[in-house]
Amino acid sequence: MSAREIHVIVVGVSVAGIKVAKTLATFGKTGGYPNLRITLVDRNAYHYHALGAPRSIVDKEFGKKLIFPLSTLLTPHEADPYSPKHRFIHAELTSVSATNVILSDGQSLPFDYLVLSTGARNRLPANLRSSTLADAQEEAARMHDTVARAESILVVGGGAVGVEMAGEIGHAYPDKSVTLVHSGPRLLPLNFKPAISEGAVTKLKKVGVTVYLNEKISIPADTPFDCTIRPLTLTGVSGREYTSDLQILVTGTQLHTEYMESLESALGTPLRDARGALLVNKYLQLDSPQFTNIFVPGDVNNLPAGAKFALKAAEQAANVAQNLIALIKAPEAGKPAVLKPWDGSLMNLILVPIGRNMGVFQGMGLTLGNSWWGDVMARNMKGKDYFLSQKEKDFPPRKP
Ligand SMILES: Cc1cc2nc3c(=O)[nH]c(=O)nc-3n(C[C@H](O)[C@H](O)[C@H](O)COP(=O)(O)OP(=O)(O)OC[C@H]3O[C@@H](n4cnc5c(N)ncnc54)[C@H](O)[C@@H]3O)c2cc1C
Repeated sequence: MSAREIHVIVVGVSVAGIKVAKTLATFGKTGGYPNLRITLVDRNAYHYHALGAPRSIVDKEFGKKLIFPLSTLLTPHEADPYSPKHRFIHAELTSVSATNVILSDGQSLPFDYLVLSTGARNRLPANLRSSTLADAQEEAARMHDTVARAESILVVGGGAVGVEMAGEIGHAYPDKSVTLVHSGPRLLPLNFKPAISEGAVTKLKKVGVTVYLNEKISIPADTPFDCTIRPLTLTGVSGREYTSDLQILVTGTQLHTEYMESLESALGTPLRDARGALLVNKYLQLDSPQFTNIFVPGDVNNLPAGAKFALKAAEQAANVAQNLIALIKAPEAGKPAVLKPWDGSLMNLILVPIGRNMGVFQGMGLTLGNSWWGDVMARNMKGKDYFLSQKEKDFPPRKP
């Protein structure tokens, strides 16, 4: 048992942040470090289970369930309520120094260890913009109602999220005109087999979605993509015109890591790549010898695109938690910590529901594109609830 006070700050409490925080909280309680204190910081007062966003836009009740209060993630059910060891602060990280984080509410918090898991931003309706839980509930409901009102919907981007969105809308609203346009030669990431892409096209057509490949659409820079009804005609490189009253753009994410600027200028070296992703070493530490106590799991780091998945964010977070525990235990053990390198594995399976009954799957040696078995796998493994029941286990039971 160690009496040392250890302060860990986790900024960005989503897939990666939740995994690190839960693992460390359990370690503090059962591993002999009762004074391990975890401060969670997020600009949102809630966690949004974004994996379920494609279903949320067609099922309002389901959408409500994707939103979890962060204030109850660790406190009080993980900590002694009379002497809370952990806390949640609803604020945005604005800058980082060698010893402290500065938050939008003006607080400057010292840390022994810092986890930066601020992820990457998706456009609406693949994400929410609200800061409070009540506003998030309203925002999710509003986006659902917008999709319900729209008569013609254009989805731009044929990655997994675009295919899932188009498939859900096509299935739920057979009378709407739904078009999916993709700039590449086939749908879904190109490291998966062509049979998966072909299966996706066939199954999207079955739910009434029109698919165009090799089509780059020119989009006016001021198009807000705020999930509101806005009749618009966009033109593709083919010369074809796409008229719709709702446009959904799912062509990639944006990084917001401006909070690193001051530390970069203090050091005189970049800590981010050209996109804004935080540079990491093989242990997932911020790639700078001065900051072996700062870790960066998840979508915000500069690992390749094949690592930008919830599954990979959670694996990296588990790796980070293990390394943090090794560092925390080192003084009592009287020997240097042995850190575990990230294994570098990229996403090698894909599971994409297309509406409630169909889907494609590749993984575990199986390639299920047009096959009926793809429908069975997608429906049973993901399509029922988009992994919501697994996420619910991280939080205390909801009040009825
Ligand atoms: C619609 C959709 C469907 C998806 N489906 C799948 C899927 O089926 N399978 C899969 O593996 N992956 C899927 N993904 C990808 C997956 O959601 C991400 O890879 C994963 O969420 C990354 O987790 P993260 O913890 O790194 O970051 P994020 O989930 O992006 O979370 C970042 C957190 O940091 C907070 N934050 C950001 N900046 C600040 C700041 N300055 N100060 C304080 N807080 C901040 C945010 O509020 C947020 O809570 C999907 C993504 C989307 C959008």
